[in-house]
Amino acid sequence: MNQASEKVLREEVEKRRTFAIISHPDAGKTTLTEKLLLFGGAIRLAGTVKARKASKHATSDWMEIEKQRGISVTSSVMQFDYNGHRINILDTPGHQDFSEDTYRTLTAADSAVMLIDVAKGVEAQTIKLFQVCAKRGIPIFTFINKLDREGRSPFDLMEELEQVLGIRSVPMNWPIGMGRELSGVYDRMKNQVELFQGDDHSQIKVQKVEDYHDPIIAEMAGEYHANQLAEELELLDVAGDPFDYEKVKRGELTPVFFGSAINNFGLQTFLENFLELAPKPAPRKSTEGEIEPVREKFSGYVFKIQANMNPAHRDRIAFLRIVSGKFERGMSVKHVRVGKDIKLSQPQQFLAQDRDIVETAYAGDIIGLFDPGIFRIGDSLVEGQTFEFDELPTFSPELFSKVTVKNALKHKQYQKGIDQLTEEGTIQVFRTVSFDDTILGVVGQLQFEVFEYRMKNEYGVDVQLQRQPFQFARWIVAKEIDPSKFRINSTLVKDKKGNYVALFENEYAMRTAIDKNPDAQFLEMAP
Ligand code: GDP
Repeated sequence: MNQASEKVLREEVEKRRTFAIISHPDAGKTTLTEKLLLFGGAIRLAGTVKARKASKHATSDWMEIEKQRGISVTSSVMQFDYNGHRINILDTPGHQDFSEDTYRTLTAADSAVMLIDVAKGVEAQTIKLFQVCAKRGIPIFTFINKLDREGRSPFDLMEELEQVLGIRSVPMNWPIGMGRELSGVYDRMKNQVELFQGDDHSQIKVQKVEDYHDPIIAEMAGEYHANQLAEELELLDVAGDPFDYEKVKRGELTPVFFGSAINNFGLQTFLENFLELAPKPAPRKSTEGEIEPVREKFSGYVFKIQANMNPAHRDRIAFLRIVSGKFERGMSVKHVRVGKDIKLSQPQQFLAQDRDIVETAYAGDIIGLFDPGIFRIGDSLVEGQTFEFDELPTFSPELFSKVTVKNALKHKQYQKGIDQLTEEGTIQVFRTVSFDDTILGVVGQLQFEVFEYRMKNEYGVDVQLQRQPFQFARWIVAKEIDPSKFRINSTLVKDKKGNYVALFENEYAMRTAIDKNPDAQFLEMAP
């Protein structure tokens, strides 16, 4: 690579930030995403003032922008520029759409923003998504939202992060009052006060101060709030964790920001700090060791395949995370699994500013490839020397259904459909040891619906799904397995590769089995 293009590659990688927002439904993810996009876009369009004003009519403004520029908040990846950064936000769908895809999408992110409702704290879906991120050891940033409403005390929330998620936290800013009494936040890093103004809190006044004892704070926010702030921050300084960037990078310490997405409050501080602290695109493991983003040759892997639910358009989109090098439209790459060269001619990128076919993209970006059925989740596409990225993790299913085919004559198509959809990662398939029944395992209800729909539309097979009472799957590693031990509130099945898996109806049944089989290992995922 010549020096000039090496420099460009380095710069392009350096400025990228690819992250996912993880939260429980209703915490405000859509609002935050919209605001960040609008913020990025609007600043470039008409300066900061407009961005702040826009908060009043966020939805309609947003829809107008959506119409004009053809962006969709519901799309899987959104890209925008801000302050010299190129930002990719990966969407993780809400609860009805929750699926293994949601988890896999997180493998394409280099960091995560955990969004928490100030009144509700850490909720069920946050925990699940957090754990997937924590396993990868990626940095996690916390945004505590809806500060304009009565909520729990910040100390209480920090305690909960530690108790429930096992992560220490370091507040980057601190609320001055809360709910109706909220007057602003204190930025601990910059030593400045950011005060809301106006009935809707849409204007923000920023005041530099000496420290949190500065008398200006009392003048601005009132004696009562100023005293409370000083007391709380003193406590934090003494008893709280200091900011430690190395710990943040390892995902052991989460920087916490307080704000209100709907009022645009705290967003700019959040975005700017986040962009500074969040990692640039990270290397990924492969059969050739770690692949660095600045490696000259292009490489990437498919982490999600989205089937078109419209029967008139059978095509799918394969989402590819670029791991290294530069992507250029029309380039030829090796599709490693099938051992063939393919041309990437019609890729889509999900730019907030325009949705044109992408001409170039770099490590950290996500591109959508038209998929006539040649891709599977985890596929590697590489330029030059051939290697494969590590397999994507699978996730322990939590919902189970017995599947039967309505018309026995369709058995062949049925088997073909099951095989292909399993390979694609749409579902996991098990067979019961006792009756050789087929059991599907998924993490979200939507996966059953997609399965049923695609079996009918793509394979012409009507299937019947019958929900089973199991909630947990554990892969068993043992010298000997006695099926008679898995009869009460549980059943023994085999996965595609013939591994034994026990399905349990409840935690108690699982605990009992584990206790009664001290020589066996029970794994959440396939070994
Ligand atoms: P999602 O389900 O996580 O995508 O949440 P939404 O963005 O749809 O927000 C859920 C609800 O919370 C909506 O009614 C939002 O208007 C509201 N909301 C979002 N952010 C805030 C906030 O900062 N303050 C208040 N009071 N409401 C908010």
